[in-house]
Amino acid sequence: DLAELALEARGLSAGYGRVQVLRDVNLTVRPGEVVALLGPNGAGKTTLLRTLAGYLRPAGGEVLLFGASCGRMPVYKRCRQGVSFMGEERHVFPGLTVRQSLRLVRAQGEQAALFPALADRARHRGALLSGGEQQMLALTLALARKPRLLLIDELSLGLAPLVRERLLDTVRTTADTGVGVLVVEQNARSVLDRADRAYVMRRGEVVEERPADHWRADLDGLAALYLS
Ligand code: ATP
Repeated sequence: DLAELALEARGLSAGYGRVQVLRDVNLTVRPGEVVALLGPNGAGKTTLLRTLAGYLRPAGGEVLLFGASCGRMPVYKRCRQGVSFMGEERHVFPGLTVRQSLRLVRAQGEQAALFPALADRARHRGALLSGGEQQMLALTLALARKPRLLLIDELSLGLAPLVRERLLDTVRTTADTGVGVLVVEQNARSVLDRADRAYVMRRGEVVEERPADHWRADLDGLAALYLS
């Protein structure tokens, strides 16, 4: 149902112990939408994604997944609901080869063939792949679970521009199949080329939300938000 939101945060606050990081965050992701989460280091993007995925308890407010409040629902139940989280750590199976990893998650032919560069590495163990190959594998593994909502932190940090573009293209085509995507990506221009909307966070708050077109036409204004 495209009318239903894949994700909604309402007045969300969260932090670490007594340190409050997120303040009154309101955000939505619709099925089929790529939503970029932008903002300077320390703005709270990682904290927000962890809270949405269920790794951190909200101190206040609400998270709704596919229209239902998920309260204190643990991570594994959110996964079962169709939430897939890709953290900064590039989760691959270090001791398994690419082929074994794909078999383990029952990646079907079309998924397994997402990234031709990975096919050339079929017999390599996860730990021995390059950073870009690991992230391609991590995305393939995440997609093999057939998520309805994909939360991605630092999609291309430290990776070559070409790999970043390939990953972002895959994110876009994935959303086009009806998956909602919320993605943190340092390269604003690249992600805005594939996103529908973008939120800008600063000091734990969402300060602006606009269509990607708006930001693409005003990259200077966007940069100013990072600095001020
Ligand atoms: P970056 O791009 O640098 O990861 P970010 O926008 O993802 O930045 P967060 O990592 O969510 O921001 O950090 C937001 C704030 O929370 C920062 O002030 C950070 O110091 C603080 N913080 C993050 N993790 C912890 C933690 N485990 N304990 C205490 N404070 C933390």
